[in-house]
Amino acid sequence: MGIKQGIKRLVFNLSSGLADMLYRRPYRDPEGKTRLKTEDSLLHLDLVITECCTRKCRDCSNLMQYYQCPEHLSSDDVIRDLDKLLDCLRVDELKILGGEPFANQTVLSDVLRYLSGKAGERVGKINIITNGTVIPSDDCMEAMKTNFKALVTFSNYGDVSSRQDEFIALCKENGINYILLDSSFYWLDFGRPVEYEESEDFVKRQYKYCFNRKNCNTLYRGGFYVCARQAHGIHLGLLPDVKSDYVDLKDPKYSDNDALRRDILGIVRRKQPVSACRYCINGKYIHVPKAVQK
Ligand code: SF4
Ligand code: SF4
Repeated sequence: MGIKQGIKRLVFNLSSGLADMLYRRPYRDPEGKTRLKTEDSLLHLDLVITECCTRKCRDCSNLMQYYQCPEHLSSDDVIRDLDKLLDCLRVDELKILGGEPFANQTVLSDVLRYLSGKAGERVGKINIITNGTVIPSDDCMEAMKTNFKALVTFSNYGDVSSRQDEFIALCKENGINYILLDSSFYWLDFGRPVEYEESEDFVKRQYKYCFNRKNCNTLYRGGFYVCARQAHGIHLGLLPDVKSDYVDLKDPKYSDNDALRRDILGIVRRKQPVSACRYCINGKYIHVPKAVQK
């Protein structure tokens, strides 16, 4: 463990609240002003390519543990939706995730190849988020190698990330950029997807300071959502499907790019919580250990 991680763990052991203040800093929103004034780009976009995961984390905030019959998305569908979005907005950071994106390597490779072409000029960084349990195929390695914007982020769940070391060795060997996240950090408990009896003030405050609202707007199955929890919760039938809470790219009115851009930016800048926030308690800052398996 490095010195910084050691200090972080010490602070956390002293007071988890102090650790939140120092490291999580929910009240900070350094991109807030940019988010409000940028008209032609998104700062971050999470692109879901599969509902399948190689792990079943009890506290997965994105609700992947609730899928009984998870499915991969198809290359055609993912690329069609991404293409439509990129046609009207640039994306500074595109995160590709699942579930576990390397569980759906054919689509991952296709998306990376698509982003090696013209469309890739409209994307700043490409960040593939993995739990480090699957080794990429030769084809997928090639797709990552040939897209110079590709970066692999290892979530680093200790023993749960069973093939991480092997995967990192491959990245080094093949000149693929990667980041290893700090394993000492804990998760926040987002709670089960049930309606909580919290006050309006709590829900508003939770939404305002929510990390996912600021950093994890999500493109999934033709919808643009505030966060992945909302996206999956609606698809799973666990959260209310309120049409005004997201943008349905398949709506015929979005043959007009200006309308699509305006409505996506409306979600990004939305001040009022979405219905899903009443089914979430991340604003209580309850700490849980990372990646506990069900
Ligand atoms: S937290 Fe990551 S590894 Fe765990 S179930 Fe969710 S997507 Fe899978
Ligand atoms: S449901 Fe609301 S509070 Fe919960 S993660 Fe999504 S945006 Fe944040």
